[in-house]
Amino acid sequence: MGIETKLTAARAIATGPQRLSNTIPEGYARVRLAAASLCGTDLHYYSNFANAGFLLKNPVTLGHEACGYVTDANGSGLQVGQLVALNPIMNCGICAPCMRGEENLCTAKKFPGSATTVPHLDGFFRDVIDHPVRCCRPVAAGVNPRHLTFAEPMACALHALNKGGVAAGQQVLVTGCGPMGLLAVAGAVARGATVTAIDLRAGAVEVAVRAGAQGLVIGDFDEAVLDRRFDVVVEASGAIAAFNTALRAVRQKGRVAILSNIQLREAQVNLNQIMLKEIEVVGSFQFNREFEEAVQLIEMGAVDFDILTARAYPLAEAAKALDTMAAGEAFGKIILLGSEG
Ligand SMILES: [Zn+2]
Ligand SMILES: [Zn+2]
Repeated sequence: MGIETKLTAARAIATGPQRLSNTIPEGYARVRLAAASLCGTDLHYYSNFANAGFLLKNPVTLGHEACGYVTDANGSGLQVGQLVALNPIMNCGICAPCMRGEENLCTAKKFPGSATTVPHLDGFFRDVIDHPVRCCRPVAAGVNPRHLTFAEPMACALHALNKGGVAAGQQVLVTGCGPMGLLAVAGAVARGATVTAIDLRAGAVEVAVRAGAQGLVIGDFDEAVLDRRFDVVVEASGAIAAFNTALRAVRQKGRVAILSNIQLREAQVNLNQIMLKEIEVVGSFQFNREFEEAVQLIEMGAVDFDILTARAYPLAEAAKALDTMAAGEAFGKIILLGSEG
């Protein structure tokens, strides 16, 4: 029997047998979890029962990065046994942003494991998931689920690269080598950019170097060496200091793309640099067509996701996995594996 996990309060995960309805909603397929991964958003909810000022109203299953095997296609074109990437963005399809292909900005979007969707929808940290067929992307045979779970976070990273206009031959700086920063590094390297990555933690910088970046540990070098060197800076740390570093490191008329999940707070930002150098600061929230781009990168084997994986835990140890992430000592993504393999 499968299990489900629920966040019931800050730092409290209840794990138990999953209760299943006998009927699968129309337009949905039933999927057995293969692999899921932990996101900074999950960690915010786990630590605070809230994220970016959005409080959870009731217990919810976390997780929005996952893939699974179809167990019931429910009359759709999917095939039983097929591995599918789960796109967590369930957009309405009819609002103005949706009509422009900007599902990430949909005004009636549903997103699992998030306080922004009311009533909350359970996320992917459970063994059996009913998911809209149109949000299930079947993949080529032989794709490793441990790699495919990167589809969603990789799509977020690629969206930031697209917003920043990252292309082959450019100089790109990534500030912060957490999982998102590392995916930005890998994505920019795959595009043929020359990438530099910085972080306070030497271990995290080491992973960025293995992913193809030149790595610098903050404190070990003079920040002046970064000045005006970069066409694009991707801010992936969430630290205000790093944002100010980005403003000095970007060239005139360059772009700073904000990929990090910056929490609400007062901050001293050097706006003067934005004016003087005519910097474009662009936000990046989730993704659109980049989900497809990410799945294709994974199918092609263009990125070594094993390098970017810190650890894997069975689903039943979701709380332990979140505690490991909270401790900040695991460099790269933390993965959960479905109970049935
Ligand atoms: Zn995420
Ligand atoms: Zn919409």
